[in-house]
Amino acid sequence: ATPISIMVASGRGAHLGVLFKDAGSIEAMRDIDTLVVDKTGTLTEGKPALRELVPLGGRARDRLLVLAAALEAPSEHPLARAIVRAAGQQALPAVEDFRSIAGQGVQGHIDGQAVALGNRAMMRALSVDVNAGAVNDADRLRGEGATVMYLALEGALAGLIAVSDRLKDGAAEAIRRLHAEGLQLVMLTGDHLLSAQVVARGLGIDEVHAEVSPAGKAAVVQSLRKNGRRVAMAGDGVNDAPALAAADVGIAMGTGTDVAMESAQVTLVKGDLAGIVRARALSRATVRNIH
Ligand code: ADP
Ligand code: MG
Repeated sequence: ATPISIMVASGRGAHLGVLFKDAGSIEAMRDIDTLVVDKTGTLTEGKPALRELVPLGGRARDRLLVLAAALEAPSEHPLARAIVRAAGQQALPAVEDFRSIAGQGVQGHIDGQAVALGNRAMMRALSVDVNAGAVNDADRLRGEGATVMYLALEGALAGLIAVSDRLKDGAAEAIRRLHAEGLQLVMLTGDHLLSAQVVARGLGIDEVHAEVSPAGKAAVVQSLRKNGRRVAMAGDGVNDAPALAAADVGIAMGTGTDVAMESAQVTLVKGDLAGIVRARALSRATVRNIH
């Protein structure tokens, strides 16, 4: 690639809301045959809203919401924002021993009680029993596309919290066009398989990996590359950073975290997936100019 054509491409990219960190990534976009995408915040808006709080064991719904919101107050995760918003103006009690575990959830003590909110892996790690009835309720909500978290008090399951997030405008169209260009589409998510499948099916995604940890996301990218695939990974979160760094081209959502942008070579300023289609068109035009 000549320096001039690269400069022109960078300039046009910036105009189109696609920022390239280096010349290599402009060229590499053209040769990609697999696009790996994160679900939450990449395919979806990443602004979930509380959909349902199911109290268990006769507990009061309002108290559970306050406990959950207090626990999530220090967290920047989109799921946390949804829960804090749902609690509205209510005063939130103080949290001690706060711990956030990426890809699992949050824990702490409130009024001397151990409180935990997160996924199945977190409940397993804390030896919280999740009975069949609760799983049934959770699966019903997941079947509607919601993300379901478990709330535990003093080591016992106390409630289910379901939130739902909208697909981004234009996500379906961008995916359809990338598919038409012959790309294989793989979705990675820390969320449950049932919730993931609802999103994937609607978009025609070829392959889904659910309940993957941040390190697991990177491992999927590495194994695709080992099998000869040229992989672009698009993500927005701290949990996507290892996978973005492991890809041939990492693509961060400009609406996401700084860590994601630092780990990626390409940033889509507005976080719209159509930017990937534009980046590839630009890449093809640039490389064609050179040869
Ligand atoms: P994704 O890959 O969809 O961006 P994450 O890896 O961040 O998701 O999280 C995976 C799962 O861990 C979530 O679906 C949720 O069940 C749980 N989780 C993560 N962070 C939190 C949090 N702050 N509060 C509650 N649950 C969380
Ligand atoms: Mg995400």
